[in-house]
Amino acid sequence: MAHETYEPVIGLEVHVQLQTDAKIFSPDAAAFGADPNTQVDPVSLGHPGTLPVLNEKVVAYALRLGLATRCSIADRSVFARKHYFYPDLPKGYQISQYDTPICYDGFVEIYPEEEEDANPAEAASKRIGLTRIHMEEDAGKSIHDADQTRLDFNRCGVPLLELVTEPDLRSPREAYLFLKRLRQLVRYLGISDGNMEEGSLRCDANVSVRPRGREQFGTRTELKNMNSMRHVEQALDYEIARQTAALERGDSVTQQTLLWDPDAGTTRPMRSKEEAHDYRYMPDPDLVEVVVDDDQLDEVRADLPELPRARRRRFIEEVGLPPYDARVLTEERPVADYFEAALDQLFKRTKGGDTDAQAKLVSNLVMSEVLRVLNERSIEIDDLPVEPERLAQLAFLRVQDKVSSNGAQEIFEAMMEQPEASAGKIADERDLIQVSDRGAIVPVVEEVLDDNPEQVETYLDGKDGLLGFFIGQVRRTFDGSPDPEVIQEVLREKLEARRQAAE
Ligand code: ADP
Ligand code: MG
Repeated sequence: MAHETYEPVIGLEVHVQLQTDAKIFSPDAAAFGADPNTQVDPVSLGHPGTLPVLNEKVVAYALRLGLATRCSIADRSVFARKHYFYPDLPKGYQISQYDTPICYDGFVEIYPEEEEDANPAEAASKRIGLTRIHMEEDAGKSIHDADQTRLDFNRCGVPLLELVTEPDLRSPREAYLFLKRLRQLVRYLGISDGNMEEGSLRCDANVSVRPRGREQFGTRTELKNMNSMRHVEQALDYEIARQTAALERGDSVTQQTLLWDPDAGTTRPMRSKEEAHDYRYMPDPDLVEVVVDDDQLDEVRADLPELPRARRRRFIEEVGLPPYDARVLTEERPVADYFEAALDQLFKRTKGGDTDAQAKLVSNLVMSEVLRVLNERSIEIDDLPVEPERLAQLAFLRVQDKVSSNGAQEIFEAMMEQPEASAGKIADERDLIQVSDRGAIVPVVEEVLDDNPEQVETYLDGKDGLLGFFIGQVRRTFDGSPDPEVIQEVLREKLEARRQAAE
């Protein structure tokens, strides 16, 4: 198919909204979701006589992301005014960085070939170059209704980092993987919630196609208005097909900005008025240069958390988890933290033994109980009533074989409803402590065999399947939770004794 002979080239521009208490140049609250125009002040509205003062947290967050993506860091960088007229920009200019971004020349690794459950040590990576990361302020928000446009200035001055990638991506799938990695990274770093639907992560995609094998890039278009990673992937798919078809017809691609229409599943040109730029960039005379010294960099570096990929490898190589578990548990930092806290608490109790098996036990509880409940109740792990300490109590009961895996499930459910009760207390109350003591089980087995002479006879005639019947009877008769393995062992023994007695 002629289609196959064209190759897409993609570069992304991503805005990351930072999770700071205050705005970038004023002490106003920067939180998302407040009532319209309740978080505005004269600085973010650009009233005459006001002066911006840089929020140092924004610099620290930029450095965090810059170091985590192996960027070079500018020891001096400058804020510039980017002029344009739009109703949601009351100052008439946006404060951004222009020719001196604070971070430049970094990369993010993606793993296009990786199977979900592969060992991350073995996956081939692809580096997506970062041209730059710079700091800027957000503009307000225009809310367009049928017959009017309203303005919410809460977002004016909310801090953003803008990342620009090199044109290194070669498929919509790679763009999707890049965004997924970036989202995970900013969440791990604690600088943004990375929520694309709420606009904390916004992506514009530049895309062109070229005949495969040709070095020179084709003419690109820029796609805007994509509110989820899926939309980015879909919009790129559509646009690549559109450009390819144009070239195959002998037409050319026009460089323009396009809006993705998720309902129609198509792109359409933005009004060209909104596109004509002459931003008249100039250094902002109200702000001093941003100076970053080595001490500050060392401090940020020392503060960087273990990143997801490294943590996943450590969970496999040092904690002894299977690759699948390691991936699931490190997807979100709070879940990985929870798991490790619970495991630490368990180790304090076990003081040795088979630590790999203990880790697997805790992992199973987190994956099958904790993550399930978070999902069912749509809550965050920090709001889970079962803290790591109590999960460790439960895991310890399992390590000692004091409760069965079904029993553990029941105890977990009960702990959700009883925030104060220990796992052991609940196990006692509900009679879930397994009795493994043969002395307690033997008389019940004898009693069951005495009470069911016909079944014993049938069993001895060769109907092995009846073992399950006896196990059921023993469990029913027993006062408490007998260990299923001990029941089986005793049953086989006693039935064998009866066979010998009968011969
Ligand atoms: P502008 O100055 O218009 O913002 P840039 O050179 O800064 O353009 O590039 C913006 C984005 O577009 C970058 O992510 C870059 O990788 C990407 N890009 C540049 N040229 C192409 C191309 N021909 N095809 C696809 N993406 C491109
Ligand atoms: Mg640019």
